[in-house]
Amino acid sequence: MRGTLITKTKRGEFQVPDDPVIPFIEGDGVGRDIWPAARYVFDQAVKAAYGEARSVVWTEVLAGEKALEKAGALLPEETLETIARCRVAIKGPLTTPVGKGFRSLNVTLRKHFDLYTCIRPVRYFEGVVSPMKHPERLDVVIFRENVEDVYAGLEWPEGSEEARRLGVYLKEAFRWEIPDDAGIGIKFISEGNTKRFVRRAFDYALSHGRKSVTFIHKGNIMKYTEGAFREWAYQVAREDYGEAVVMEADLAGTAPPGGKIVVKDRIADAMFQLILLRPEEYDVLVLPNLNGDYLSDACAAQVGGIGMAPGANIGQDVAIFEATHGSAPKYAGQDKVNPSSLILSGAMMFDFLGWKEAARLIEKGVAEAIRRGRVTYDLARFRPDAVEVACSTFAEEIVRNF
Ligand code: NAP
Repeated sequence: MRGTLITKTKRGEFQVPDDPVIPFIEGDGVGRDIWPAARYVFDQAVKAAYGEARSVVWTEVLAGEKALEKAGALLPEETLETIARCRVAIKGPLTTPVGKGFRSLNVTLRKHFDLYTCIRPVRYFEGVVSPMKHPERLDVVIFRENVEDVYAGLEWPEGSEEARRLGVYLKEAFRWEIPDDAGIGIKFISEGNTKRFVRRAFDYALSHGRKSVTFIHKGNIMKYTEGAFREWAYQVAREDYGEAVVMEADLAGTAPPGGKIVVKDRIADAMFQLILLRPEEYDVLVLPNLNGDYLSDACAAQVGGIGMAPGANIGQDVAIFEATHGSAPKYAGQDKVNPSSLILSGAMMFDFLGWKEAARLIEKGVAEAIRRGRVTYDLARFRPDAVEVACSTFAEEIVRNF
């Protein structure tokens, strides 16, 4: 393999060479459309920012339908080994069957590499038609815990021996009555995993000059999981970031002292209306896994749809950047869908690598291409002044607007 591997220092920092080897998973469905478009934008951005001094050496790793076809497994061992060795990877969407079949490959990847932090920035791009009167007022970065909660995949189907045994045990040990014909899933949230995750959110808020951090939970009902999440998050705020933060409750409506980050919490159901009604009051949002998933898509819809929102899954040793939408199979191979989610995930990846100039060029190119109105179908259909272009043409528009 040409190129040089990314390494880590003893202090845990990623060391990025000028020619890093970065594995990519093309993805199922529209992955075959958006990956070539995104790769073109990435290569052009690196070239525009650094000339010949830097370049990414892309290496394909297989997952999903392509892997099954070519290597006889949905997630071959070689894919996991290559990602572990290279440390930073990028992926398109992978199909997951609902209610049957194999477990989500996305969840498997997150668990395998312990990618405990999912980061999804959601902001408005001028020229995107949104259902909101003032979509520009939303500018949040969602931190979603990525390996715990009911989302961890600990569940048994109705009628299985495991569900039956669990039902019997719960009845005998705790007198908990669960119907015989129930599927059973387990929700767990731990102190250690919550605290390491919440620290990531505060580190991000501090290094990016964000104004507030809000813990979102359903602790009024699920006291020992979501309620504990809130409690542990406040402990991190007080004990590890005490000098840098101020609690909303202590402000009593007054402005925070210069530069301090305001820490607050909201109950999840209320948050879904607050983010619609007063989005400008929120900044970094910190949630357990399931509600983090829901709120990410809701926020993305508020600024015009999930075709735009990027995402990163970050662990201690590995980081995987990904499009947040699914494989949209009905559009596969049509060179039609919006590649922005994957392209903006690439910008997050370049930021992570410390290649800030390339990241800014990509963001500028996307923003400007949308503003000028030669855009993919999803954006063009709501904009009479826009011209619909193919996925690949849109990538060229982005590069033209660097
Ligand atoms: P989806 O693939 O995201 O597509 C739902 C709709 O969203 C599409 O029909 C399209 O809407 C719009 N859309 C999605 N991506 C778009 C893009 N790049 N540009 C423009 N519009 C886009 O969701 P799904 O149909 O629920 O899921 C399909 C499969 O993907 C499932 O197997 C699911 O499990 C999987 N999935 C994977 C990931 C991942 O890999 N991270 C994430 C979510 C879902 P219109 O038809 O209205 O234009």
